[in-house]
Amino acid sequence: MKFMLGARQGSVSPPVTLTHFGEPPTLGATGRVDLRNLDQQTGTTELERNYADQTRIPVSQTSDFQPAAPATDPSSSRLWIKNPLAVFTANGLDARGGIVVSDGKIAELVPAGKRPSAPCHETFDAGSHVLLPGLINTHHHFYQTLTRAWGPVANAPLFPWLQNLYPVWARLTPDSLELAVKVALAELLLSGCTTAADHHYLFPAGLEDAIDVEVGVVRELGMRATLTRGSMTLGEDDGGLPPRSTVQRPEVILADSERLIGKYHERGDGAVIQIALAPCSPFSVTREIMAESAAMAERLDVRLHTHLAETIDEEDFCREMFGLRTVDYLDSVGWLGKRTWLGHGIHFDDDEIARLGAAGTAVAHCPTSNMRLASGTAQVLELEAAGVPVGLGVDGSASNDASNMILEARQALYLQRLRYGADVPVERALGWATRGSAAALGRTDIGQIAPGMQADLALFTLDGLRFSGSHDPVAALLLCAADRADRVMVAGKWRVVDGQIPGLDIPELIAKHSAAAQKIIRG
Ligand SMILES: [Zn+2]
Repeated sequence: MKFMLGARQGSVSPPVTLTHFGEPPTLGATGRVDLRNLDQQTGTTELERNYADQTRIPVSQTSDFQPAAPATDPSSSRLWIKNPLAVFTANGLDARGGIVVSDGKIAELVPAGKRPSAPCHETFDAGSHVLLPGLINTHHHFYQTLTRAWGPVANAPLFPWLQNLYPVWARLTPDSLELAVKVALAELLLSGCTTAADHHYLFPAGLEDAIDVEVGVVRELGMRATLTRGSMTLGEDDGGLPPRSTVQRPEVILADSERLIGKYHERGDGAVIQIALAPCSPFSVTREIMAESAAMAERLDVRLHTHLAETIDEEDFCREMFGLRTVDYLDSVGWLGKRTWLGHGIHFDDDEIARLGAAGTAVAHCPTSNMRLASGTAQVLELEAAGVPVGLGVDGSASNDASNMILEARQALYLQRLRYGADVPVERALGWATRGSAAALGRTDIGQIAPGMQADLALFTLDGLRFSGSHDPVAALLLCAADRADRVMVAGKWRVVDGQIPGLDIPELIAKHSAAAQKIIRG
């Protein structure tokens, strides 16, 4: 079934034909649900049944996915996460009876009313939980938790926002970075996020080991991360935006990039740490470091990340500095390919969207940041229709200013509904936060609930006041603004239990982090 989403009035884009979901349910002429077709056995109306059918991604859409063989080692311990209140698998597979976790992976999906095919040593009754794949954040700057809601830039667009913040950020130290990363990751984890990408591009004197600091915190919290070795090479005196004190020499950047890949980058299923190369943005790096980073990424087989097409100011900068539009610039430095994922990706024309899609270049959609800085609205449905993998990112905490992935999915849903209409399904936004994000990071082992996938899971309860009176549990997560997971599992291990991170003293963390935040502003 085709799903037509017409562009809203005033938009220049043509209607987009999508095949992910069926025709949205329609109400009768009175606007009321027609109860004449009430199913006597299930007590559901035809409208409700249609809705349930149509908001599930058809299995036929998952032809690219080949489930791995279930774990068969009889000595492995098996945990049955049993009969969830509701489940979103991100692929149309039936897991209404729950899932079996073994050896850190999803061993089996249990259909509605069934039991696992083999005995389980442990059972977790998920009768009051909505089960999702662990959420995946594709764009962040963890260090920015130290400069959240800073008055002087609270109402500024991107360029003045950056110019005021660069000198503050130049005072970052290993200790303050460690606290900032811990706050960002803890916040993400509590929101149901299991994998996060960070774009770190500040290496002032004394902070040469910034990525090493980040690796330590990721491991401490038991999450997964794609840590990008960012860079800035184009200082103010060369026509760039950042002050000279924040830029590095290309040979220093490239040597450190190679060191980090050799030391930390894991390949294949279950990778905990991955390293990517990430010159910051067109207005803060030279063409040379873009091209040399692309060559190194090709040689060492790692991914590439940068900010692109975030604002019209950036587009103007590219025209004046390089004589090119942003995608032409990307192409000219060897970045237009499937190794690349772009932060924001807002200001593209139709031809550029087609080129990005043909190249398989991905986009990290950052709705809250784009609204906060009034940068614009990414054309997410056109991008996906062209073949661009689209994931979600909370972006840095100085432009969001929260690191909450489940709330980001709600923001994405609402921003895209404003652009395309109210028939953008809730499940589509959850798909960006899970399966889409996994694709943006180049991962095939996370982002879905399916046999053989990593056991990265987020479980939400609906027992708070904000959910009282809600009916569809999956829709309630976004429509009633769920903001905290009750349980989160990474690689088969519970990392959030009863809404808490075991072993993490959050009041102490807040006290230390707040002191560091005061200090970085004071200078
Ligand atoms: Zn960013």
